[in-house]
Amino acid sequence: MAGIYIHIPFCKQACTYCNFHFSTSLAQKDVLLNAIEIEIADRVTSDEVIDSVYFGGGTPSLCSAKELKNLLSALENKVTFSEDVEITLECNPDDLSTTYLAEIFELGINRLSIGIQSFHDTDLKFMNRAHNSTEAKTCIQNALTAGFENLTIDLIYGSPTTSNEMWAENIKRALDSGIHHLSSYALTVEEKTKLNHDVKKGKVFVNEETAAAQFDILLDQINHYGFEQYEISNFCKEEKYAKHNTAYWQGSSYVGLGPAAHSYDGEKRRWNIANNALYIKGVLGTSLYWEEEILSNTDRYNEYIMTGLRTKWGINPSEIPSLFGHEIDIYFQKTLAEHPYKDKLLIKDGNITITEEGRFFADAIAASLFKV
Ligand code: SF4
Repeated sequence: MAGIYIHIPFCKQACTYCNFHFSTSLAQKDVLLNAIEIEIADRVTSDEVIDSVYFGGGTPSLCSAKELKNLLSALENKVTFSEDVEITLECNPDDLSTTYLAEIFELGINRLSIGIQSFHDTDLKFMNRAHNSTEAKTCIQNALTAGFENLTIDLIYGSPTTSNEMWAENIKRALDSGIHHLSSYALTVEEKTKLNHDVKKGKVFVNEETAAAQFDILLDQINHYGFEQYEISNFCKEEKYAKHNTAYWQGSSYVGLGPAAHSYDGEKRRWNIANNALYIKGVLGTSLYWEEEILSNTDRYNEYIMTGLRTKWGINPSEIPSLFGHEIDIYFQKTLAEHPYKDKLLIKDGNITITEEGRFFADAIAASLFKV
């Protein structure tokens, strides 16, 4: 199993671009965390050795050390953590006081994923982030001093407030800071966000060419600093691959707990309701708080293509007949032969990956191999 994901659905304020499930009211926090502990007791099976626990959100660093300890204890009552278990906490710079860092380090949390997004106040204000550039700059050093060797940060490119010079500065500051892992995403305009509203009103213009140019700057700098791009949006040095995400991209199963969390067992995908009150009601009562679907062979093939092609390991066509059968194999071979982006695919040692020039368009390239 890839591991356990716990969704903490609370944030201090709504970032303009975010469509994740979260609430800015903390009124239900206690009862919701209690419901997650009950879900752990109900759903996590007791004979597993777990390699990875991932607290995502939302903003898990809004949980006190005591609250995180309770969740970890609930898990440890059900499973054994492997000796080198990776326990990741997504966190925001404004929550990372030196006291808090020391407390969560003491709990055994050994990897932080810090949502820095930018080291420039103009970007942070535009995105309505809760932190400022000073906090963005100091939190990494504070985390290293507290003992966290395994640190990753998130940076966003393609914002209308980010010039290419600002973006290059962001990357340089990040890669000079002592981190071994970076996740970087283009600003995307998602439905039901303030950003989408502002774009529709013509107040803001998000330009794909800017994002593509800044992605190129990122790839240049990454190579210069000795980081490798092991997934379209993820970079590391010294093979510090994120255990949780890598296992997910490689198709392992995982259990997701908390509202809006997804689970996958190799056959079925299950997702909890993205509503805090109904989640609590469901866990504490009898109402159904999740939905599930059995993935068809075609769904599993499409997912294999999508996740595989986003990584440096790519896909291995010789696996396709045994994984998905003869009919899908024939379809794959035929589609590959006629593939419109053939020049963006690299076939080496039996594996297919996307060339550096094609990586900005990875999702479109993968989608053209999908079976519909
Ligand atoms: S980006 Fe993170 S901090 Fe901002 S609203 Fe979304 S989940 Fe919350």
